[in-house]
Amino acid sequence: MKNKQFFDVVIIGAGPSGSNAAISYKKLNPDLKIALVDKAIFPRDKSCGDAFGPGVISALKRFGNEHILEGEPEVVSTTLFGPKNIGIQNYIPEVKNKEDSIVYVIPRLDLDNRILNLAKEEEVETFEGYRFSNFFINEESVSVEIENEEKEKYILDAKLLVGADGANSRVRKSLNLKQNSDWNKAIAIRAYIDSPNYLEIFKERTLMFEINVSAIKGYAWAFPSKGNLLNIGIGVPLSVFKKEKMDIKNLLDEFVKTLESRGVIVENLRMEKSFMLPFASSRPKLAHNRVALIGDAGSMINPMSGEGIFYGMEAGFLLANETHQLINESASMLNTGVTKYEKVFNKRFGKHFLSCSLARLVFQSPFMTKRLLNIASLDQHTIDFVVELLFDEANLTTKEILLLGFKFILPLNILKLLSKTSN
Ligand SMILES: Cc1cc2nc3c(=O)[nH]c(=O)nc-3n(C[C@H](O)[C@H](O)[C@H](O)COP(=O)(O)OP(=O)(O)OC[C@H]3O[C@@H](n4cnc5c(N)ncnc54)[C@H](O)[C@@H]3O)c2cc1C
Repeated sequence: MKNKQFFDVVIIGAGPSGSNAAISYKKLNPDLKIALVDKAIFPRDKSCGDAFGPGVISALKRFGNEHILEGEPEVVSTTLFGPKNIGIQNYIPEVKNKEDSIVYVIPRLDLDNRILNLAKEEEVETFEGYRFSNFFINEESVSVEIENEEKEKYILDAKLLVGADGANSRVRKSLNLKQNSDWNKAIAIRAYIDSPNYLEIFKERTLMFEINVSAIKGYAWAFPSKGNLLNIGIGVPLSVFKKEKMDIKNLLDEFVKTLESRGVIVENLRMEKSFMLPFASSRPKLAHNRVALIGDAGSMINPMSGEGIFYGMEAGFLLANETHQLINESASMLNTGVTKYEKVFNKRFGKHFLSCSLARLVFQSPFMTKRLLNIASLDQHTIDFVVELLFDEANLTTKEILLLGFKFILPLNILKLLSKTSN
């Protein structure tokens, strides 16, 4: 490899955010020279619940790439449990603003490799096994320093640098931006198990969420993938984790016990891996001089659901959409496009993230969780709204807040009566 190479855009991180940014640039402007750098060699594992829904499907469909999901089993429902087993079982989520109300659970080892291969098909140049170390802004370009395992350094010269290097982003650090505070971050552990009877116990392929049960202010999940494979995990806000001196492995053990108490057979627990989730309740500045952040590097995880794949992929597209025609213009013109990307992203998702942050506060209280799930089990409108927050881009309007507030103070038997009459 030559010590110095020239590109239009250099993207650090080949996860879903970086790969989708690369695909979007090439689809929008095939003449652009795009480099995609990752310290790992793919396929590589990533600690995740592996679940994604209508948003990711529509992001893939945008460029005709949904074929990578062919043959994968569809998850057909959602089951939510709160304290004292209160919950909503086997609710079929239907989102209003997207074409498909479907969820898939595909191990990231496989999913990320499929998305990266789409980028390779578009003739994006990939540098796997190369770690980003620093960047320097010049008059006409940005010089990006990367190094391999042998510590040999290379320079990639570009018009634009994109930081898509995840929750511990080195690009973000190089911009002197702080990490999220512990309150705006969660720690979660993921593991795989085989369960021969999960589908039998829940009667169908359902995403199981459990709030405030196996850990205080904790959120646990069991997501069915192919065959008997189940992705399980549990997470808590980092502030709570530190305050209560929790042990992440113990939290997982507690959740396994809860699963077993529900009759689920747990076999061959493996690949336990914990990682941070930087919540979108506190986002850094995304647009900088010749540099942009997308995905976890820009704290884009939904604070209520922990979903991050969709927002990161969409950020990659929005960035490419706002800048692909400006790459060879002056630095100030290009920077206008980068700033526009941040504006468009915040306009589209700002209120949604704010609403999900408020919902997170409700789910942090066992009492409020119980109450909300009780209401949702009686009232179609409330469960529809929770699902819209989880799987779509809904936000709380003043009317919605007043309506929910009213339902919170109404006795449940009256709410039941009202729901019956309105159905
Ligand atoms: C336990 C857990 C469960 C989750 N469950 C879900 C879920 O079910 N659904 C969902 O949508 N989201 C989930 N998330 C969030 C989701 O994993 C992230 O939002 C998503 O991976 C973000 O994608 P990304 O491309 O921005 O970053 P990543 O997927 O983290 O990719 C970043 C890439 O950058 C590379 N990199 C890092 N540093 C460097 C460097 N210095 N040089 C070169 N390369 C570098 C890494 O190797 C990596 O490949 C979960 C997260 C956790 C921790």
